[in-house]
Amino acid sequence: MSTSQAIKAARGLRDILPSERAAWRLVEQAAHGVARRFGYQEIEVPMIEPIELIERGVGADTDVGSKEIYRVITQDDAKPRLALRPEATASVVRAYFEGGLNQAPQPVRLYLLGPMFRHDRPQAGRYRQFYQFDFEVIGDGSAAWDAEVIELAGSWLAAIGIAQVSLELNSIGDANCRPAYLERLKAYYRPLKDQLHPDCQRRLETNPLRLLDCKEPQCAPFKAAAPKITDHLCEPCAAAFAEVRRLLDAGGIEYRLNPYLVRGLDYYTRTVFEFHHTALGGAQNSLGGGGRYDGLATAIGYPDTPAVGFAGGIDRAVLMLAQEGQEVVPEPPAELLVVPGGGELTVAAAEVARIARVAVSTAADYSARSLRAKMRSAGKAGYRWVAILDEAEAARRVVQLRDMVSGEQREVGWDELPDRLLAGGNGL
Ligand code: AMP
Repeated sequence: MSTSQAIKAARGLRDILPSERAAWRLVEQAAHGVARRFGYQEIEVPMIEPIELIERGVGADTDVGSKEIYRVITQDDAKPRLALRPEATASVVRAYFEGGLNQAPQPVRLYLLGPMFRHDRPQAGRYRQFYQFDFEVIGDGSAAWDAEVIELAGSWLAAIGIAQVSLELNSIGDANCRPAYLERLKAYYRPLKDQLHPDCQRRLETNPLRLLDCKEPQCAPFKAAAPKITDHLCEPCAAAFAEVRRLLDAGGIEYRLNPYLVRGLDYYTRTVFEFHHTALGGAQNSLGGGGRYDGLATAIGYPDTPAVGFAGGIDRAVLMLAQEGQEVVPEPPAELLVVPGGGELTVAAAEVARIARVAVSTAADYSARSLRAKMRSAGKAGYRWVAILDEAEAARRVVQLRDMVSGEQREVGWDELPDRLLAGGNGL
C-alpha cells in the first residue's frame, strides 16, 4: 500500500460530477440550440495560445492581464511563450483570419463552449478553470449585430429557464469621441484624487474609464456627478446607440441604462452590456457580458475589422439554476440495467446487454453482490428497466424484464427485448 497522501485537485479547480452534469448539459444544450437557431456556427480554438495574443486580448492593465494569466513552461523554453486562455475572443478573431474566414461572406457568426483559465481568488461562483459560452459576429460594424448578440444572449438565459435576469447597457464611444470624454473625466476626478482609493488614483492616469466601475465605497460618492459618456458621444456613435436601443425596444427586450458599465480596454467600442442575476448581490452576479470590439483585430496584428460578441459563464448559469430552486433531475447511467443473478452468468449478461443496446442504452451489473443489493442500487440510480436472469433463464434465453416505475415484471425472450423496449415495455 502506498504511504503517500491522497492527491487532491489544485485550489480553485473542481470536478463536475455525473450527478451535476444533467444541469450542465441543459445549459450547454441551450447554448448550442440558440446559437444554431440564430445561424451561428461552432468553432474550436486552442486552450493554449501565444502569450502575446492572450495579453493583447485582455490588456496588460486589467485584472486578468496583470495577475490572472497562467503562463505555460515547456521543457525547452527559457521563458514562457504560451499561456492558457482566460477568454476566447482573441483566439476566435485570430482563427477568423488564419482560417481565411475573412474571405467568406461577411459577417461571420461563430460560437464555442469551453474552459477558460484565470488565476483569480477562488470563491463561490469564481473558479480558476471555468466554462464559457462565447459567440462573436466578425466583419460587420452595423449596430443591428450588437442588438442581435444581446438578443441571443438573453434567449440563452431564457432557454435555460433563468428568470431573475437584468440587462444593463451602455455605450463607451470610439476613438473619435472617447479621448475628449476621457479628458473631461480626468478633469472632473483630478481635484478629488486624494479622496480616491489608491487603485483609482493610479487609474486616473492609466485607465480613467475604469474609475467608473470601481467598487470601492470611498470612491462611490463621486460617481453620480461624473460626466457620462453617453452625453458625449460623437454623432455616429450616438446614432449606433440609438439603433441598438430601437432594436431592443422593438424586440421587447428590457434593459437598464448603466453609465458606469465600461470595459477598460481601448479596443472596445460603442456597445457594452452585461446580464446580471438579480437574486445575488456582489461581484459574482454577472452571468455574462459583451460588446463591440472594433479595435481588437488590429491590436493583434490583423487588418482593421469590426466585431461584436458575448461571453457567458456556464458555471454561474448552473449555479443560478440551483439558486432559483430549479431542480434538474440527474439522469441514470442508462435506461436498462442487466442484472445477472450469479457469478457464472457474465457471458449471458453481456449478450443480453449487447442485444438490448440496439434499442435502448444498457448497462450491466457484473459485481459479485447479492441480487437484492444489485436491485437496491438499480432503484437508487433511477434505471427505467431492469433485466434479471438466473442460470435457468439464461439457458432458455429469457430474462425477467422489470418496469422500475410500475414494479411490473414479465418474462421476455432475449431476441424480443429490443422490440419490447422500443414499444416502451408494452404488455408488461
Ligand atoms: P468576462 O470575460 O470577464 O466578461 O466574463 C464573462 C462571464 O464569464 C462572467 O459574467 C461570468 O459569468 C463568467 N466568469 C468570468 N470569470 C469567471 C470565474 N473565474 N469563474 C466562473 N465564472 C467566471
